[in-house]
Amino acid sequence: MTLDAVLTRIDIDLPASLDRLLDLLRIPSISTDPAYKADCDRAADWLVADLAGLGFTASKRPTSGHPMVVAHIGDAGPHLMFYGHYDVQPVDPVDLWTRDPFAPQIEETAKAKVIRGRGAADDKGQLMTFLEACRAWKATHGALPGRITVFLEGEEESGSPSLIPFLKDNADELKADIALICDTGLFADRVPAIVTRLRGLLGEEITIEGPTKDLHSGMYGGVAMNPIRVLTRILASLHDDDGRVTIPGFYDGVPEIPDTLKAAWDGLNFDHCAFLGDVGLSHLAGEAGRTALEQIWSRPTCEINGIEGGYTGDGFKTVLPSKAHAKVSFRLVGQQDPHAIRESFRTMVQSMLPADCTASFTPHGASPAGQMDTSGPAFEKARQALSEEWGVDAAYTGCGGSIPIAGYFKTYLDMDAMLIGFGRDDDQIHSPNEKYDVECFHKGTRSWARILAALT
Ligand SMILES: [Zn+2]
Repeated sequence: MTLDAVLTRIDIDLPASLDRLLDLLRIPSISTDPAYKADCDRAADWLVADLAGLGFTASKRPTSGHPMVVAHIGDAGPHLMFYGHYDVQPVDPVDLWTRDPFAPQIEETAKAKVIRGRGAADDKGQLMTFLEACRAWKATHGALPGRITVFLEGEEESGSPSLIPFLKDNADELKADIALICDTGLFADRVPAIVTRLRGLLGEEITIEGPTKDLHSGMYGGVAMNPIRVLTRILASLHDDDGRVTIPGFYDGVPEIPDTLKAAWDGLNFDHCAFLGDVGLSHLAGEAGRTALEQIWSRPTCEINGIEGGYTGDGFKTVLPSKAHAKVSFRLVGQQDPHAIRESFRTMVQSMLPADCTASFTPHGASPAGQMDTSGPAFEKARQALSEEWGVDAAYTGCGGSIPIAGYFKTYLDMDAMLIGFGRDDDQIHSPNEKYDVECFHKGTRSWARILAALT
């Protein structure tokens, strides 16, 4: 059978595939640091050359920041777009690495054989799983199936400043039937997942101001209003005793998940005790009566990320401060409108201010949640393909974090996306000693071959 031949080829070619990945990992394409601009360019060149070698019409496309890589192949059949990013996070603190982050190597650890180096999992190792699947397919059949567009970004780790303009300017060229995004993880060590829900993110910074200057609490204490007292009262009122957010209208547009999905999530047997135990906790702190997965994947949150005010140095100072600040963020789901929530939050804060105090606000981002429509046949075919490779039922999962790219594809290209990745929780992405398991790389590559066969 044709797919079997491709899978066999992937198995045989694994050592060479790993060598190619190590080669790409040696390029320090840190997008956020201007000192590595030429390296980002070099990584883009490397990928263009590799894609051209596979028969793609590949080009490096300039932006005001780091270049995009765009490649096309095929002219008939279903059109798939693959997205990954070739830039990586900075490596500091570098002394916590057990090896030079850009001298990657295959290491044998107690748990697994791993590819160690910056970008191994996020995202070079992941993007190469798709390219290696294409390579094996081409070697076996002489041509790739359907139409494939590969779109690789070099600014994902630095806020993607060029992405939206690029999508707008090149919408016709980039739009495909569906996008495949490889920048996420397995659900559990051996359970593959298609992420179909992503939470949105809204940030607000509040400053409460009272007296015109810091005061002595012996002289003014009790008489003058303390901005920290005002701020903490407001922050403490953001949740009720059941863990629900009290901002008026906050739950507008928050849907209940269907019973079938809830049952599927319950079937994943997520161990919240272990999940919390890893960080020294034992009790769910979110909305009462909701499971951990519901709380992370399908419910909105309000978190206080930082508080500042008054004297926080060594010793003691009886100051009554003139100002107090807090940073508050919200993870959003369903159809929650970030702008409406921002307004409602500000109105609530204003309504709680006592005489002599004012509040000012600084906004930080406002992206709505994303939810894929899984009713089309592509999702189920891809899920089956993943299930066959991993030998367990692949799951439709959510992601507590916010991955804006899927939303951008929907907004600017009117294209749904499947987020399929093979990372594991202990990959230490963004941290020292990042790794990607050889098994994930290998089975990830095989997974893409199966998905290509299923979707084309
Ligand atoms: Zn990434």
